[in-house]
Amino acid sequence: MQVHRKLGTWFFLAELITTLEIEPDSPSKDSCGKCNRCIVACPTQAITAPRRLDARRCVSYLTIENKGPIPEEFRRAIGNHIYGCDDCLVACPWNKFAEASQEAAFQARESIFSHTLRDFLSLTDETFRQVFAKNPIKRIKRPAFIRNVCVALGNVGTQEDLPALESLSEDPHPLIAEHARWAVAEIRQRYGLSASETAQPPP
Ligand code: SF4
Ligand code: SF4
Repeated sequence: MQVHRKLGTWFFLAELITTLEIEPDSPSKDSCGKCNRCIVACPTQAITAPRRLDARRCVSYLTIENKGPIPEEFRRAIGNHIYGCDDCLVACPWNKFAEASQEAAFQARESIFSHTLRDFLSLTDETFRQVFAKNPIKRIKRPAFIRNVCVALGNVGTQEDLPALESLSEDPHPLIAEHARWAVAEIRQRYGLSASETAQPPP
């Protein structure tokens, strides 16, 4: 967490590579005091102590860098996050000074936000690349993205999502199939449906 006393915590980190000799500046002072809001806000208890993060528990790691299955112990805690998390940043009181960026490249794209979670399930490799062109989500590729969407639907989906998820339960990609089956089981449990009951569209 990069805390800036005037700008808050919403930063993209970047680096410049240069041959210039630059005098290092001194470390900034502690900005946290007795605050523990980010620790409390973290859905997976990834911030294990002040200034200590277990990246293996972090939703951003689990949904972005992690290439394999998402461990079941974290799936419910992931909630409806489908790419990263940042709940700790949202909780940080230093953001009361933050201002929304005017940088065009950081603005939300309507073409993405017009999709529901269920819409994402029907993306092919080709349409995935089109929808997420020039977007960091493209980097994790379709199987990992669909994996994340399945986990989110397992947590917030409804009976209307079951047919699409059941179809993906037979997907040739094992990552997609396993997470779709998990989502189906979670929704069925939430709505009290037995495994043999067919999903009924709501009235
Ligand atoms: S990004 Fe989310 S999961 Fe990761 S440390 Fe912050 S609150 Fe926890
Ligand atoms: S929420 Fe912000 S100020 Fe509070 S402990 Fe976390 S980083 Fe520090």
